[in-house]
Amino acid sequence: MDEEIKLIDENGLRVDGRRFDELRPVRIEVGVLKNADGSALIVQGRTKILAAVYGPREIHPKHLSKPDRAVLRCRYHMAPFSVEDRKSPAPSRRETELSKVIREALEPAILLEKFPRTCIDVFVEVLEADGGTRCAGVTAASVALADAGIPMKDLVVGCAAGKVDGVVVVDLCDIEDKYGEVDVPVAYMPNKGLISLLQMDGILTMEEFEKALNLAIDGCKKIYEVQKAALKRKYDFTEKLKREADKSEE
Ligand code: UDP
Repeated sequence: MDEEIKLIDENGLRVDGRRFDELRPVRIEVGVLKNADGSALIVQGRTKILAAVYGPREIHPKHLSKPDRAVLRCRYHMAPFSVEDRKSPAPSRRETELSKVIREALEPAILLEKFPRTCIDVFVEVLEADGGTRCAGVTAASVALADAGIPMKDLVVGCAAGKVDGVVVVDLCDIEDKYGEVDVPVAYMPNKGLISLLQMDGILTMEEFEKALNLAIDGCKKIYEVQKAALKRKYDFTEKLKREADKSEE
C-alpha cells in the first residue's frame, strides 16, 4: 500500500469524512428513459449508473431461447469518460465478468418461468465510476426491472464492505477500493433474506468477514428503502398524470 495515503484519520473518519458504517448518499430516479421498458438512474456518492431494461421480447438468434423460461441477458459497460484514464469503448475482460456477475445476482429474483421463449435485456451503463459500480449496477438494474413491470420475488440490492487501514468499513469509494486491503461486494434480497452475490478480493479473518458481511447487508437494507421510495414516487406521479388526463376528458 502507498504509505502516503492515509485512509482513516486520527478521529476514525474515512477519506470522505464518513464513519465506518456510513453509506455514501444514495439517490435513485425511476423511468428516466422514454424508449426503454424500464429504467433507473442511481447516484451513489460520485458513482453514477444508468440501467435500462427491454423485454420480455422475442429473442434473436432464436436458438438461444428456452422452452420453459425467459433468458436474462445483461451488459455492464463503462462509458469512456466514466474514469480518469479514458476507458476504451471496446468490451474488456472486466466488463464481461461484471456482466455475468450482475446477471447471476439478478436471476434468482426474477420469475423467468412466466415468459418462456423470450429474453429480457438489461443494460448497465456506468456514466461515472467511483467504486462499487457492480453493486450500484445491481441496485439500479433491479429497480429498472420493476419499472418494466417484470414480476420479481424481491428487489435485489448491491452494497460492498471491505477493510481499509485495518478497519472494516461499508460502501468503499474508488480510493478505498484501490488502496485498501479488502473489498467484499454483496447483493441481497432483503425481503427474502437471500444473498445472490458474494465476492471477496483480499484476505479477512473469519471475525472480520462476518463484520463486513453484516455491514454490507445493513447497507443493502438501507438502500432497499431508497429503491422502494423511488418506485413509489414514479408510481404516484404516473397515477396523478392518469387522473388529470381522465379529468380533462370528462
Ligand atoms: N476503475 C477504473 N478504471 C477501470 C475500471 C475500474 O478507474 O477501467 C475504478 C472505478 O472507479 C471502479 C473501481 O476502479 O469503480 C473499482 O473497480 P472494481 O473492479 O473493484 O469494481 P467495482 O468496485 O466498481 O464494482
